Amino acid sequence: MRKPNRPGAAASIRHTSPMADTPTGHRRRAHTRTRDIERYAGLFAERTGVMRSSAMRDLMAITARPEVISLAGGLPDTSTFPPQTFAAQMTRIAQTSAAEALQYGPTEGFEETVDCILQVMGAEGMLPDPEDVIVTTGGQQAIDLVTKTLIDPGDVVVCEAPTYPGAVPVFCSYQAEVVQIECDEDGMRIDLLDETLAGLDSEGRRPKFVYSVPSFQNPAGVSMSIERRTRLVELARRREMLVVEDNPYGLLRFGGEPLPPLYQLDGGDFVIYVGTFSKILSPGIRLGWAVAPPPVMEKIVLGKQASDLCTSTLTQYFVREYFAEGNWRQYVESLCAIYRKRRDTMVEALAEHFPPEATWTDPEGGLFIWATLPDYIDTGDLLARALRDDVAFVPGQAAYVDGRGASSMRLNFSGVDEEEIREGVRRIGNVIREQVDLYATLTGEAVGASPGTPGREAEDVPAVDARSDSSASISDSPGTNPNDPSQGDVLPFRKAQ
Ligand code: PMP
Repeated sequence: MRKPNRPGAAASIRHTSPMADTPTGHRRRAHTRTRDIERYAGLFAERTGVMRSSAMRDLMAITARPEVISLAGGLPDTSTFPPQTFAAQMTRIAQTSAAEALQYGPTEGFEETVDCILQVMGAEGMLPDPEDVIVTTGGQQAIDLVTKTLIDPGDVVVCEAPTYPGAVPVFCSYQAEVVQIECDEDGMRIDLLDETLAGLDSEGRRPKFVYSVPSFQNPAGVSMSIERRTRLVELARRREMLVVEDNPYGLLRFGGEPLPPLYQLDGGDFVIYVGTFSKILSPGIRLGWAVAPPPVMEKIVLGKQASDLCTSTLTQYFVREYFAEGNWRQYVESLCAIYRKRRDTMVEALAEHFPPEATWTDPEGGLFIWATLPDYIDTGDLLARALRDDVAFVPGQAAYVDGRGASSMRLNFSGVDEEEIREGVRRIGNVIREQVDLYATLTGEAVGASPGTPGREAEDVPAVDARSDSSASISDSPGTNPNDPSQGDVLPFRKAQ
C-alpha cells in the first residue's frame, strides 16, 4: 500500500535520495542515508526524540513472510466471521444509506453506535450514561486521546509491569514518566502501588492516572483478583486519582467466573474506561470507545476533533447493521470456544517442549500467554535465532520501559491454528534448548531456574523518565546484564501445568 502523501510537510525541502522503480511503477526510496536523516533532524519536535515504535508493529513486518509461524501478533481470528454476513450487511448499507454512510459524522460518534457499545458494556454489568461515551478509531486512539488530555511532559503515569506494549509508545510520545508496578498471577500488586504512591507523595508528585488492563492482560494473560480490583477503586476514590481501565478482552473468557470491571465497581467517577470492537468483532473496522466523566470527556472530544474529526462512518454503519441481527454474543461465544482449544493446545505444547526451568501463565481468557525463561536467556537474542527457524514471539522487553523483561516472552494463541501452535512452540522450544545446553557447557553448571525473586519493595520499582531514551527495541536489544538487578525477571507467575 502506498504511503499517503504529506503535502506541505517538506515543501521547502528538495530531496535527492536514491529512488528505485518498483514493478508497479511507483518510485520507492532505495535507502535512507545519514545525510538524509541529518537534513530533517533539525525540523523534528522534541517529542519525536522519545517516540518509539511499537515492537509488535516492527515484528509484524518481519513476520509477514508466509512461512513464518507468528505467535507474535495479537490478531483475533477474523476467518471465523461469516463472509455472507459481511456481504449482506455491506449490501444493505449500500442499498439503504449509501450517501450517509459515505459522509462525515459527529466527533462523538453516532447514537446507534453508542447503543451497541452500551450492549457490550452491559454484558459485563456496566451501565454508563450514553452522554459519557465517545466512539474512537480503535481502543488505541482512546488511549492516545486520554493521554493527550491528561499528560504534560514529565507527568507520571503508573502502569503494570509488564504492560500492554502498544501503550508504551503512547505514554512516551507525550513525554510521560512511566512507573511500572509488578504483577503476579492476581494482576497488579496493589500493595506495591500503594507504597509507590506514598513514595511519590513524599516527593510532592502525583500520578495523572494509573493505566491497567485488569482482565486477561496483554501481555501477561493474568486477571486482577476481585480483592485487588476493590482495593484499586478504593485507592482511586481516597486519593481522587484517575484509573484508566483498558478492557478489550473481558468478554473473551473461557474459564473461571466473571469479575466486575473496575468501571462497574467505581461507577465511573474515577475510572475512565477504554473498550473496543477489535477482539469481539474485527480490528479492521477500527472502532473503539472511551467512557469518561463529562469534564474529561469534553477535552477528549476536542482532542479527537483535532486528530481525525470523526471515526469512520462506514464502519459505524456496519456495526449498527451487525448488532441489529442480534447474534453478536453467539459470535463471541464461538470465538471463546476456538480460543479455549488453542489456549489448551499451547499450554500442552509448552509443557512438552519448553525446559523445566521455564514458567508460564495459564490464562482463563484473552489472547496471550507470558512465558519466563532462565534469566541468562535474552528473548531479544532468542527471537533473532527463532526467526531463522521461521517462528516469532514478542520479546518481554517490549512490555517494559526500562529494559526489564529480557528473559520473558509473549505468545499469542488466537491468530494461528492448533497445528501451527504446536509446531511454533516446538521450534521455540528447540531454540531455547540450544541456549540452555550452551549455558551448561560454558559454565559447567547443571542448569536450573534462578530462584524466583519475591515481589520487590516499592523503592526497587524504577521510575523511568521516558524522555531519556532508555527504551529497547526488539531490533536493538541491549541484552541481559546479569549484574544489573533491574534487568532480572521479577514476575512470580505460577507455573501452569
Ligand atoms: N489495549 C489493549 C490491551 C490491546 O491489547 C489492544 C490491541 N492489541 C488495544 C488496546 C488496541 O486495540 P484497537 O485499537 O484495535 O482497539
